Amino acid sequence: MAKKETNSSSSCSFCGRNEKEVNMLISGLSADICDSCAEQAYQIVKESFEAKKKSVAGIDRNQLPDPRQIKEYLDGYIIGQDSAKRYLSVAVYNHYKRILQEKEDDIEIEKSNIILVGPTGTGKTLLARTIAKLLKVPFAIVDATVLTEAGYVGEDIESILTRLLQASDYDVAAAERGIVFIDEIDKIARKSDNPSITRDVSGEGVQQGLLKLLEGSVVNVPPQGGRKHPDQKMIAVDTKNILFVCGGAFDGIERKIAQRLNTTVVGYASSNNKAKIDKNNLLQYVAPQDLKSFGLIPEIIGRLPILTYLDALDPSALRRILTEPKNSIIKQYVKLFKMDNVDLTFDDDVYEYIVDKAVEYKLGARGLRSIVETIMMDAMFNIPSTKQEKLHITKPYAVEQLEKSEVIKLRNSQ
Ligand code: ADP
Repeated sequence: MAKKETNSSSSCSFCGRNEKEVNMLISGLSADICDSCAEQAYQIVKESFEAKKKSVAGIDRNQLPDPRQIKEYLDGYIIGQDSAKRYLSVAVYNHYKRILQEKEDDIEIEKSNIILVGPTGTGKTLLARTIAKLLKVPFAIVDATVLTEAGYVGEDIESILTRLLQASDYDVAAAERGIVFIDEIDKIARKSDNPSITRDVSGEGVQQGLLKLLEGSVVNVPPQGGRKHPDQKMIAVDTKNILFVCGGAFDGIERKIAQRLNTTVVGYASSNNKAKIDKNNLLQYVAPQDLKSFGLIPEIIGRLPILTYLDALDPSALRRILTEPKNSIIKQYVKLFKMDNVDLTFDDDVYEYIVDKAVEYKLGARGLRSIVETIMMDAMFNIPSTKQEKLHITKPYAVEQLEKSEVIKLRNSQ
């Protein structure tokens, strides 16, 4: 840039004023700017920086929801699971405080990654997904079972961050504040009793790789995921502020908990102290050492300091899941039909029937949707071509539809 002196016909590329009408004209390679436009540009840049400082990841420091508000929000979508909701609310609140912290002293708030232990289909992914929606930060779900050590068939650990980059449209700064949900973390447990003489490809090696991400380091990420390729340009991502939420069913961990509590899953303990233990819900006593007995390496456990559990869903919870959450399955079907101007209603005993079937099929909450889908299939096929304005589902109708589909399935499987 230089002060323009040569070409007298120059004018400001922004306001169009001629060189003679301004105090000073600064030339760039293919444009000029006058002193007053430069002044204005400076103000705009300054204001934008200030706004950015005040709001991180789209959240204004003053509008940061507190843990109670975060839990209330989660209550709108997830039934039960109080303990997990409370832990998650606090962890997320602290995550924000950490991102917003000013580096004015030596105290640096470190992150607290989370591990959720609970049977499959009890809401672990739903919790993580719902919280990401509230926070408006990039969010990625990855399945630990596809991860393998470098050099083996499967995905490199770094591909976890590829997903996050994709979720943030390759905005590295946004990805570096994101949340990653690693599902099925229990599947990479060390299998000490594994009789295989080959290396434990999906076990300890993957845990070691994961450790690097969890503890916060700068990782070179292949932008398209998959295997690292020598010619591929890598993107450096700092994982220091990425919140990792891990989830796993840890099938059989109750036995490890019971062993530790010096009792057995069945049977009665004699001492008073042991009698207080609720043997029907041992998961609530889960502790880091149980994860270690299950096969997670101590370093990983150390990097997942927040450990909480989810309850198995009983029929009354399933019943509530069907209708209560803000986007409950039933509400979604009512909306679907409303779009065709059809008023959809259900008898209460239809709900009980759906829940009974989900329990019978041992499908948990995941099964609710497929059962409702089966019951509604015929109606969804027929109604749009009629002028019908109301549809009321009774139990005999639901039973008929479900049994019909069971017969078809049986016939197909023969
Ligand atoms: P997982 O614990 O295996 O991650 P998900 O969160 O994927 O289970 O749950 C599967 C589906 O079941 C969810 O999409 C949701 O529809 C339903 N669901 C499970 N648990 C709950 C819950 N506590 N409240 C509301 N819906 C739930």
